[in-house]
Amino acid sequence: MSKFGPEYVRAIAPYQAGKPIAEVAREFGLDEASIVKLASNENPFGVPESSKAAMAQAAADLGRYPDANGFELKAALAARYDVPADWITLGNGSNDILEIAAHAFVQKGESVVFAQYSFAVYALATQGVGGRAIVVPAVNYGHDLQGMAAAIEADTRLVYVANPNNPTGTFIGAQEIEAFLKQVPANVVVVLDEAYNEYLAAEHQFESADWVRKYPNLIVSRTFSKAYGLAGLRVGFAIAQPEVTDLMNRIRQPFNVNSLAQAAAIAALNDKEFLKKGAENNAAGYRQMTAAFEELGLEYVPSFGNFVLVRVGDDDGAGARVNLALLKQGVIVRPVGAYGLPQWLRISIGLPQENATFIEALKKALS
Ligand SMILES: *Cc1c(COP(=O)(O)O)cnc(C)c1O
Repeated sequence: MSKFGPEYVRAIAPYQAGKPIAEVAREFGLDEASIVKLASNENPFGVPESSKAAMAQAAADLGRYPDANGFELKAALAARYDVPADWITLGNGSNDILEIAAHAFVQKGESVVFAQYSFAVYALATQGVGGRAIVVPAVNYGHDLQGMAAAIEADTRLVYVANPNNPTGTFIGAQEIEAFLKQVPANVVVVLDEAYNEYLAAEHQFESADWVRKYPNLIVSRTFSKAYGLAGLRVGFAIAQPEVTDLMNRIRQPFNVNSLAQAAAIAALNDKEFLKKGAENNAAGYRQMTAAFEELGLEYVPSFGNFVLVRVGDDDGAGARVNLALLKQGVIVRPVGAYGLPQWLRISIGLPQENATFIEALKKALS
């Protein structure tokens, strides 16, 4: 046991990321080019061409610090969401936004509410500030917003809601979210984490910025890592009213979003074709995956994101066992035992051929 640092830091179990392709190639003696990675909900089309061109231009200026205020990116986001630019906080990925919120609003010993089976970073961000996690049991693998509202205590400072949720893919409709926001005390900040919003079908899309106008305690968090294809660059953002935004900006590192990321994000934001292509591929891939699960008689949680949670066996060793059998065949997916889901795997939706390779490997792994 280390003698350094506070007890609550020593208690943190580090985040387990998806295995990198190079690591799997080394460990299993495979050719990197033959490996299919469906583990981190990345965009299978990679970086949009529009962003590559913007980065090539921005590269000429890398000797200078980035714009600490992200003027142009904020202006583009403000125009897109019809909010003033000073309602926006940029993050080094939206992970950064989640962390900044914990640092800005929670003191050691105060509580944070989030759902069972919700994004792992909520627990990490809470622990990082010595906060106390109030984990509300999931209902059908999704958030129980009634239960979450009821779980708020006098010392609760922050609530995290993921919509859609990762790793389960569950989604909460607009009416339910708004009913929840009305119930939350005005001094409790709500982070509505919408990392997968751009994948939602039109009938499920709603303007979360409208809620921000109504609720001064609401932070809407978005990312360029998923639908926009920029996971490696680390850029996300928050929309909130000025009082909350001002506090987040005091905590934020001044240069948390680098110059290439800012340039690439502006280009991606305006690349409607890229988003459309990604959403179409995702919808088709979801049908391909779930048809295979049904054929194999596997239970899955209906997903609104770019991934699916599937149950690969009835014993608590099932997820790890099938995961290993997939790795040996060069297919990387995400075990979710650390989420308390040891019988399940989370599969990101890839290109049609990648999905097919995974499905074939899964059949072998199960037989
Ligand atoms: C992927 C993900 C994020 C953040 O990703 P960044 O790359 O840090 O923007 C945030 N929330 C959820 C629920 C996610 O799945």
